[in-house]
Amino acid sequence: MSDHPPSTQDPLLPGLYIVATPIGNLGDITLRAVDILKRCDGVACEDTRVTGKLLKHLGISKPLWRYDDHSEHRDRARLVESMHHRAVALVSDAGTPLVSDPGFRLINDCRDEGIPVISLPGPCAAITGLTLSGLPNDRFLFAGFLPVKDKARRDVLAGLETIDATLIFYETAPRLLKALAAIGTVLPDREIAVARELTKLHEECRRGLSHGLIAYYEANPPKGEIVLLVGPPGAAHISADDADDLLRDALGSMKTSQAAAAVAKATGLDRKALYVRAMELKGQ
Ligand code: SAM
Repeated sequence: MSDHPPSTQDPLLPGLYIVATPIGNLGDITLRAVDILKRCDGVACEDTRVTGKLLKHLGISKPLWRYDDHSEHRDRARLVESMHHRAVALVSDAGTPLVSDPGFRLINDCRDEGIPVISLPGPCAAITGLTLSGLPNDRFLFAGFLPVKDKARRDVLAGLETIDATLIFYETAPRLLKALAAIGTVLPDREIAVARELTKLHEECRRGLSHGLIAYYEANPPKGEIVLLVGPPGAAHISADDADDLLRDALGSMKTSQAAAAVAKATGLDRKALYVRAMELKGQ
């Protein structure tokens, strides 16, 4: 902890303030983020409507400047130049700027120009998904969005095959099934977690192997925002609760013996033991 935390009365020093914002639950904005947004001279953001709504919710009114890394070099140079005498907050639509979001070029231009850059930690879907998933977290690799095209997606996964760490991807609901199928093909037997709608009303984190998750999401088409996590090689572990969840789902549409067989196939667990457990669950 700093010995001398800055007072909220102090004028804000010119520079660039990287401000993380909520990924769904507005209560997740930090006290420091609110303080900087109140005291800055203006906010560089992805979408002025999205950020305008957040600031309105916080009772803050500031000039908003649209920014993305593909903005004209001239516009970025002007923004950077202004930070010699202005405090500018950088926000994205949600979460931590620069994490699959704009800001990389801006930060580097500021550093080149000797402009102070200050980063405020806060919400990030990748870290929230990791902590919720229960997958090994001593080592993890964030790999952003998987490519949209099938071959490119498989190639990226193949390139990560030997990484001894939990892999974290951002994914969209319409592409989830294809991504799960590709993981099942390229990285078979890996435990997968689908962390959906984090911090929101319908938050869900479902764990299993690709077959089981594909069967579930075929029957229950996913909606909303998704973090997809893939456990490290050799670490697949299906807890008793996870196995129960898979059995309950399967029992919704199959006979007991079929459900046990399907879950055994998806998890590698013993089919007879699953059958006994499925009978117990039916009796409960
Ligand atoms: N910079 C952001 C962050 O720190 O999380 C991520 C921005 S990226 C453009 C948006 C992607 O993040 C979504 O497509 C989804 O994969 C993931 N994401 C964002 N919010 C989420 C949420 N509430 N639940 C699950 N995933 C989320």
